[in-house]
Amino acid sequence: MSFRGRLTLFFLLIVVMPMIAVAVLVTQVTTQSRNGKADARLAAGLETALSVYRDDAAAARQAANELGRDPALGVALQSGDSAQVAAVARVAARRHRARYLIVRDAEGRRLAAVGGSGAVAPYRLNLRGPSGGLGSLVVSTTTPSEYLAEVRHLTGRDAALVGPAGPISETLALGDATLPATGHSGDIEVAGDTLRAGTTDLPGSGDLRLALFGPTESGGFFSSSPLVAAVLVVFFAVALVFVAMLLRALGGQVAAMLDAARRIGQGDFSHKVPVVGKDEMAGLASEFNKMSDRLSTQMDELRRQQIEIDRSVSRIGEAFASGLDRQALLQVVVETSLGACRAEYGTIVLSREGAEAEAGDFNPGLRDASVAAAERARARNDLVVGRDGDHCALASPLRRLAEPPGNVGVMTVARSGEQFSNAERDVFLYLVGQVSASIENIALHELVSEQAVTDELTGLSNNRRFRELISKETARAHRFGHELSLILLDIDDFKRVNDTHGHLQGDEVLRTIGVVLASESRGVDEPARYGGEEFAVALPETGLGGAVELGERIRARIESEAIPRIDGSGTLKVTASVGAASMPASADSARTLIAAADAALYEAKRCGKNRVSGAPAASAARRS
Ligand code: GH3
Ligand code: MG
Ligand code: MG
Repeated sequence: MSFRGRLTLFFLLIVVMPMIAVAVLVTQVTTQSRNGKADARLAAGLETALSVYRDDAAAARQAANELGRDPALGVALQSGDSAQVAAVARVAARRHRARYLIVRDAEGRRLAAVGGSGAVAPYRLNLRGPSGGLGSLVVSTTTPSEYLAEVRHLTGRDAALVGPAGPISETLALGDATLPATGHSGDIEVAGDTLRAGTTDLPGSGDLRLALFGPTESGGFFSSSPLVAAVLVVFFAVALVFVAMLLRALGGQVAAMLDAARRIGQGDFSHKVPVVGKDEMAGLASEFNKMSDRLSTQMDELRRQQIEIDRSVSRIGEAFASGLDRQALLQVVVETSLGACRAEYGTIVLSREGAEAEAGDFNPGLRDASVAAAERARARNDLVVGRDGDHCALASPLRRLAEPPGNVGVMTVARSGEQFSNAERDVFLYLVGQVSASIENIALHELVSEQAVTDELTGLSNNRRFRELISKETARAHRFGHELSLILLDIDDFKRVNDTHGHLQGDEVLRTIGVVLASESRGVDEPARYGGEEFAVALPETGLGGAVELGERIRARIESEAIPRIDGSGTLKVTASVGAASMPASADSARTLIAAADAALYEAKRCGKNRVSGAPAASAARRS
């Protein structure tokens, strides 16, 4: 059920239902009082009718006594002649205004009857003669219709005389209406009308009853209690109007809030719920607006962070894509973190590579807070939110994503003043994740690049790398006017080693030569496997003398090397021939330098192997 529906139901229950109950109660009470009034009028009428009846009874008694004293009637009775009695009785009745007269002899036989339409309030009188009982009289001075006419005249109401078998006389046709019991009142239906009826016994008339009829109070409650009805109607109307207004007001406020909530759901925070008055609804609306403002601020902050993150991601991505080295990438990330986390100072320190970057305000307070947080983060291996006096810092280990698990370094940001918010911490952790991933990507990239220029078997530079190097070094030598020498080395009778001991042993020999070359070379010299069992060492800023000297040293080392046999049966020995040439003495380009060194090597082989041969100077070479 809707909110409005529930409110309506609530008001119906607390206002309308009680009002209906009150209306029903009032209607009942007024109906009772209306019946009470009608019954009181009927009772008064019945009392009047009874009083008429008593008057009629008294008149009957008086008439009976007068008739009893009538000598003519006495004589007629004593004669026992019923015709005479009847004649005398008719005359005497008229004389004494008796409307009904029955004369009986002493044995109770009816001798005369005057008036036949029944008797009202009859009086019975026993007659005595000198010799005992003469007979009896029953006298009434009123007929039923006369009595009812009198009652009607006095009370203004219709009436009926009812015997056990039904109405004897009536002033209105009762039909088959059922009268209330004696002494009670009730409504009866007569010819489609509702009448109020009251009944009473008539004393001394056997089982004859008198019924009196009056109108019911017409118009019901509204006409009988117009003021109360009017008040009720007005109150009812006012309550309904009030409820409608209340519902409208409440519904309006709820609808406004619903509308605002919908707009917020759609990302529009500009709409405010109107705050009307100071009630709870106004409080709710005000809190709602505050919540909307807070949400709006947070959304703005989130948007700002999103923009910062997007920028950071693209900067880091660009840095990575542009082939920047690890150090440059770290610098980009640290600088990005300052903006993204609203930090004043930031660092990244990598444990293995020793690389580190820092950016921002190099204030000692910020640095100290940063270092302290970094140490704790390393120790706890988790995010640390630190505060050092006025400075606060965030530090997190940079986790290695690949196996084995561990940390590759620590990243920190610091600022003075308020602590970093949860949102800023989230951004920081996001950047930490990015750095970890990027560092690993760089390491992988470096590994792949390294593998591309490294000879797998010996770990020395391969031919490709050697060619890059020699052309770079020749260019440098030309530019700076330096000398550049090249040694080419070829293992003597290597084929035989392979043939005698197998290729795997040959590989072992090649590895040993690689180790010798690496250990005998200076940092700037870069030994390479030129191809097969031939090796080369470029020697920047070195003349032929130095090259021959190094060649000799290498040759002697190889000769002295006892190479373990891979089948474990002792060692074997190999020798190598070396050709050395240098620029500008014997060549003027990478190509001619290699050719000169190769020619010198060939010369060494030709002269008996296991020796070093230096290329002659170019002019001498051309001469020979
Ligand atoms: P020389 O003294 O004239 O140099 O005689 P040599 O036997 O060394 O002759 P050559 O240079 O023609 O033979 C080179 C041999 O080196 C041929 C090839 O089987 C072998 N070789 C080249 N590369 C490899 C390698 O990677 N591993 C092994 N085991 N042998 C290799
Ligand atoms: Mg060879
Ligand atoms: Mg060889």
